[in-house]
Amino acid sequence: MITLENISFDYCIKCTVCTIYCPVARATHLFPGPKQSGPDTERLRIKNPALVDESLKYCSNCKRCEIACPSNVKIADLIQEAKWRYLKQKFRFRDYFMSHTDLVGSAAVKMSALVNFFMSLSIVRFFMEVFLRIPMRRVFPKYNSKTFRNWYRQEEKAQHAFQKKALYFHGCYVNYNNASLGKDLVKVLNAMGIGVIMPREKCCGVPLIANGYLTKARKNASFNIRSLANNLQNGMTVIATSSSCSYALKYEYANLLRLDNSAIFNRIEYITKYLYNRFEEGMAPKMKPVNLRAAYHAPCHLERMGGVMYTIDLLRKIPGLDLVILHSECCGIAGTYGFKKEYYDISQKIGQELFRSIERAEVELVITDCETCKMQIEMNTPYEVIHPVTLLARAIDQ
Ligand code: SF4
Ligand code: SF4
Repeated sequence: MITLENISFDYCIKCTVCTIYCPVARATHLFPGPKQSGPDTERLRIKNPALVDESLKYCSNCKRCEIACPSNVKIADLIQEAKWRYLKQKFRFRDYFMSHTDLVGSAAVKMSALVNFFMSLSIVRFFMEVFLRIPMRRVFPKYNSKTFRNWYRQEEKAQHAFQKKALYFHGCYVNYNNASLGKDLVKVLNAMGIGVIMPREKCCGVPLIANGYLTKARKNASFNIRSLANNLQNGMTVIATSSSCSYALKYEYANLLRLDNSAIFNRIEYITKYLYNRFEEGMAPKMKPVNLRAAYHAPCHLERMGGVMYTIDLLRKIPGLDLVILHSECCGIAGTYGFKKEYYDISQKIGQELFRSIERAEVELVITDCETCKMQIEMNTPYEVIHPVTLLARAIDQ
């Protein structure tokens, strides 16, 4: 029986704009592009699943095709669903390890010194390349010695004392790898008279979705929707410092996982939109000039959400910042995609134009909203890459 859950392919007017914008189709002939892998073949696949084409697996789910499409075809969603439905899912320890971030992160933090040391050894990375197909050249983020939630415990009482509060979805990266971004957020919001409340959360599901662990992704998503909804009080907003977590909570839960997130949908805001609006209401913290020239790279998922203008306008409010806005380009990493040997070269090729434009910008550092864009840019350029919230925290500190 044919069930049409995503019939947006019928709106395709065959303009091929999506294919022009697809970074993977540009980087490799192995992927025919979003039009062909999405709406064109969906019509055939639903009639005869045997017509499925293995090349679907090359789509990185960056969503750039959806940004470009004038007919609002959910191209990337069509391709993701087709991957799950029609391609054989093989168990791979590597994919399990990279997608179960709570399990791996909570264990790694407990022995972070040892894990960080072993991950820096060439011999360990050699065996990881041979047995797990994780390229030796890929740089892994270091683990915190304590989780961010652990640090937050001593702050919790003080945060509840604020009259105005926001619910913070910190995500795995802040919790296990970059607690300082979470601390920066607390500092910025507290300087604006806003307390940070952190309900219980599980991994937003982005790496689980990318690696085909849909049941687990749905379980995590249902938990997060319930936990956030139960803690939302009047006037509160759900904020996230990861553009991909934010996108997942708002759009992937409903569109891809087909869950009802209406209890939180209108209250989710990516952090820069939330801050920009508070600044406009007169709540901007006192900032001193940062006196620095920096380049801004917009992540694909933030572009898909229409959130880039808020980040740029917020950054423009930081005194002494000479901001270079980079041309919109995918960095190529796309979450766990660029950590896999079979996609590593494509991922690197996609990022070349961005890396060159950063070199040409002659800046002191790079700003971006996404943790994996940060990893990719830091690996391929000599620059430190920070989140807009970290720059705000530095401006407050001056
Ligand atoms: S999601 Fe990205 S990689 Fe996949 S088809 Fe669209 S543009 Fe191409
Ligand atoms: S951009 Fe949209 S309408 Fe144009 S070919 Fe691609 S899917 Fe079809």
